[in-house]
Amino acid sequence: SEPKSTSEDAKPKKAPAKATGKEPVLELADASDLGEQPPEITEDEAWDKRVKTALKTLDKGVDQAAAKQIINEIVIHGDEVHWEDIAGLEVAKLALKEAVVYPFLRPDLFRGLREPARGMLLFGPPGTGKTMLARAVATESKSTFFSISASSLTSKYLGESEKLVRALFQLAKALAPSIIFIDEIDSLLSTRSGSGEHEATRRIKTEFLIQWSALQRAAAGKEAKTDTGDASRVLVLAATNLPWAIDEAARRRFVRRQYIPLPEGPVRVQQLRNLLGQQKHTLTERDMRQLEVLTEDFSGSDITALAKDAAMGPLRSLGESLLHMRMEDIRPIMLEDFRSSLKSIRPSVSKEGLQEYEDWARNFGERA
Ligand code: ADP
Repeated sequence: SEPKSTSEDAKPKKAPAKATGKEPVLELADASDLGEQPPEITEDEAWDKRVKTALKTLDKGVDQAAAKQIINEIVIHGDEVHWEDIAGLEVAKLALKEAVVYPFLRPDLFRGLREPARGMLLFGPPGTGKTMLARAVATESKSTFFSISASSLTSKYLGESEKLVRALFQLAKALAPSIIFIDEIDSLLSTRSGSGEHEATRRIKTEFLIQWSALQRAAAGKEAKTDTGDASRVLVLAATNLPWAIDEAARRRFVRRQYIPLPEGPVRVQQLRNLLGQQKHTLTERDMRQLEVLTEDFSGSDITALAKDAAMGPLRSLGESLLHMRMEDIRPIMLEDFRSSLKSIRPSVSKEGLQEYEDWARNFGERA
């Protein structure tokens, strides 16, 4: 499947690339947490302060080392994704706005009957924008974004995973509003991991389900907001390319299951236009219509890979001489570049594979 960006993305990130870290804070994630801060403090300083406070308020039972590890490796700070960065997926965006973004921004409106779901599963073929969506949700709802792949929980962090899972949920409450994004959730909640094949994996699964249930109970109760955080503003977003691997009990816990399908033709064209936006190219409307047909069954990440490869076309023919060329003498990207890239860059999901997603979506999902 698609090389996962999440594990690399889980590296500590400071301020967004554009920011110098010196800007005054305009919009704080949750200004009320900051009390009487003077307005001059920078975004980084404000963040450091919030983290320090959160670490102090954690329950006694939470391992401080694990909590610090979460802050450094799992919380993504900066490097934001916005709705408009994501091509298409309008239905999914709308569902996420209603389920998460609006309730987080206006919790007072979403009580009782309007109580939001505490978990949502994003499923579909690899490379269709599930991770991007989760990141956009965090940005747009001004939430702290915790991102971890379930497979790293069961491999990289194995041995300390239970502690980590506990610290994860506690910190999410302390730094609420929070999105806990778990990629490759199938590897944690599969039927196989529950059947005792790996004792350690089974324990992490149990711990995860315990923590999540406790969160849901706390969120629904009167005591959602306590000294140690706000359970009502924590949401678990999970993504999977293998939805059928998730066992039935775990599946039912995700009340909302959103299908993230392959992009339709016009969405593929829109994404190509975005990607070519900053580049010199000669592609006409007619060329775009051709590319729409030629990229049938391509995922979002296949489209990105194709455009990147095609963009290399003008340089490839130059060989060593590119080292001495002036920028303006490099020829534009042409349809021919796409045609030759299409020989090696093919859709990563097969027709049969696609049918499996469609079937699962019909039985268990919401359509996008
Ligand atoms: P998933 O989590 O579904 O496997 P990602 O969100 O990690 O997929 O997407 C991988 C890469 O593919 C992204 O970084 C982006 O370059 C591209 N991509 C996928 N879907 C889209 C989309 N809908 N719009 C724009 N780019 C996309």
